[in-house]
Amino acid sequence: MIPLTISGYSTALFATWYFVEELGLLLDAGDGVSAALLQKARKINHVFISHADRDHLTGLLQLNQLNARPGYPVIYYPRDCTSFPAMEAFSVKFDPHVSGTVWQPLIAPSATYIKDDVVVKAHRNGHVVVAPELMKSFGYTVTQVKQKLKPELLHLPGEDIKRLIQEHGREAVSIEVSQPLLGYSGDTPVEDWGLWDGIPVLIHEATFLESEGAIKEKPTAHKHSTLEQVLEMVANIKLEKLVLGHFSSRYSADVIDNRIRELCKHYGISIPVYRILPGVTQYDILNSYPVNR
Ligand SMILES: [Zn+2]
Repeated sequence: MIPLTISGYSTALFATWYFVEELGLLLDAGDGVSAALLQKARKINHVFISHADRDHLTGLLQLNQLNARPGYPVIYYPRDCTSFPAMEAFSVKFDPHVSGTVWQPLIAPSATYIKDDVVVKAHRNGHVVVAPELMKSFGYTVTQVKQKLKPELLHLPGEDIKRLIQEHGREAVSIEVSQPLLGYSGDTPVEDWGLWDGIPVLIHEATFLESEGAIKEKPTAHKHSTLEQVLEMVANIKLEKLVLGHFSSRYSADVIDNRIRELCKHYGISIPVYRILPGVTQYDILNSYPVNR
């Protein structure tokens, strides 16, 4: 499996972005992403934006200005968010030298290859309440797809396999095997538990520590998750590592950490849980210290 070096910043209302170095992948592009990554931002080839709230996209302008080259970066966004065409038009006018960027509307479900063997799938979520045909808010999963020799051919000598490939093509001897790598919730209420089941690393939002915080929001407001809803789900699915982000800045670091520890105990969660505290950029998250250990 590809090892993942993930760095990120995620505070509700202000900015959210996660950079996966080995994949040249940026998930959301909140303010400050270029300033935090410096030269590493040049490694970003593909940007998948979850939705058009400002805290998830205002970093695009500077990212483009510094890094655009022919055909890159490719910026994928939910098809019916009109903010992106508006931003594309502004970006081209404001920085005329930025012409290489590709702005790519996406629907969900969909699958986009970002490397020969790595695919990013878009999944519609309920953060923005709109008619089912409108695409305004996504989560993403990243999967590695490999070709493996068909089990019934494993005993054959190499010469025979070569001959089969020559005669019938590579498809005749191989099957496709998918290895999930990463899930990213975007902003969303906790919905389909099955979507994340079996994914080694899940990055999930947990805007509110208690349900009162969520209830106080207007009913028309965009929908979020509470920490307890996320951890209840995590206790019931199979993950290897959990990254929590998008906390409201109303909570202090101590309050967040204590509540995570309390709920991990309550739900019997023993996998490592990492968190992105409000106002803090965390480099190489999966090699930082899990908060529940
Ligand atoms: Zn947000």
